[in-house]
Amino acid sequence: MKKIAILGSTGSIGTQTLEIVRNNPDLQVVALAAGSNVGRMEEQIREFHPLVVCMWAEKAAADLRSRVSDMDVRILSGMEGLLEIAVFPQSQVLVTAIVGMIGIRPTIAAIEAGKDIALANKETLVTAGHIIMPLAEKHKVAILPVDSEHSAIFQALNVNGEGGGQSIEKILLTASGGPFRGRTRQQLRHIRPEDALKHPNWSMGRKVTIDSSTLVNKGLEVMEAKWLFGVDVDQIQVVVHPQSIIHSAVQFMDGAIIAQLGVPDMKLPIQYALFYPDRRPMGGKRVDLFELGQLTFEKPDMDTFRGLAFGYQAARTGGSMPTVYNAANEIAVKFFLNGVLPFLEITELIGEAMAQHRTIKEPTIEEILETEKLTHEYILKKKKIW
Ligand code: MG
Repeated sequence: MKKIAILGSTGSIGTQTLEIVRNNPDLQVVALAAGSNVGRMEEQIREFHPLVVCMWAEKAAADLRSRVSDMDVRILSGMEGLLEIAVFPQSQVLVTAIVGMIGIRPTIAAIEAGKDIALANKETLVTAGHIIMPLAEKHKVAILPVDSEHSAIFQALNVNGEGGGQSIEKILLTASGGPFRGRTRQQLRHIRPEDALKHPNWSMGRKVTIDSSTLVNKGLEVMEAKWLFGVDVDQIQVVVHPQSIIHSAVQFMDGAIIAQLGVPDMKLPIQYALFYPDRRPMGGKRVDLFELGQLTFEKPDMDTFRGLAFGYQAARTGGSMPTVYNAANEIAVKFFLNGVLPFLEITELIGEAMAQHRTIKEPTIEEILETEKLTHEYILKKKKIW
């Protein structure tokens, strides 16, 4: 029996993780955490019987307590609660599926407590990869990627019989190109939130869907790949592959390329992380090569989708710069979704925030959080001028 805890259990990755648990009787959920979705959390408690649960908002926690007073479960709240879930003694694996910097401290606590991490929180490695990876090594815990691209790379490396990146020549990080692939900047001027929320292949949370449409998501994934697989930024090549069947590939030093293919469904990477190094059966659709007929590839258009160009720049600069990239994007996406900021301005703001930042080389967690705060303040000040 493998016992797991999930941070962000009511979101897209969280609910799909629970589907895997539902289909695998040898997985048991012992702890759950979510933001404010009390209704869904109540359902999850009644179905999965966790021992302890955390709601980020105290009000939500109080509401939940009265709703499940007939159940034997402890309800916590806030950062203190998240930390307790992260280090909960009965769990072996922590699935970090919450969005945002809020995921960093619980992830560090879980690593120090010896938990393996099924990592779906992008911000952790993007902003603090230089702290997280050595810490994981020190405590001998595995960082298991849940993102489809990184899972594909991880699977390719395991096929090759190696965990590390000794023989990697290049990582081929695939991207669908999002809903606006092939468009010019002129055509992107009047994109509305509802247009950007329609992803051609993947069903994901709102923030990630917008990030896919700007290619900022791919920028963040370049940074994650750098840390996870110990390669240089210049060894990571983004390849636009509109069908989203090849989820990424590794080119080895003898020229061989090993790719992982499958239908676009997050449940496979989640299940692979939870049972690593074993493969388990999984139902559902299969890739039909005859139906597909062909797979196509393109170079990313970084002049139009500057989010990826800035991503590479932030990855090369390193230090605190990826935090600025991420923080500026986070708040710009919020403004775009509220209808305040035009689509193209999301990535322009990221560029401006990066240009005014003085990089800290090996930032501490405090410096990372401070950089995030300063970046948010910078963007809010700009907002007054619009
Ligand atoms: Mg991805």
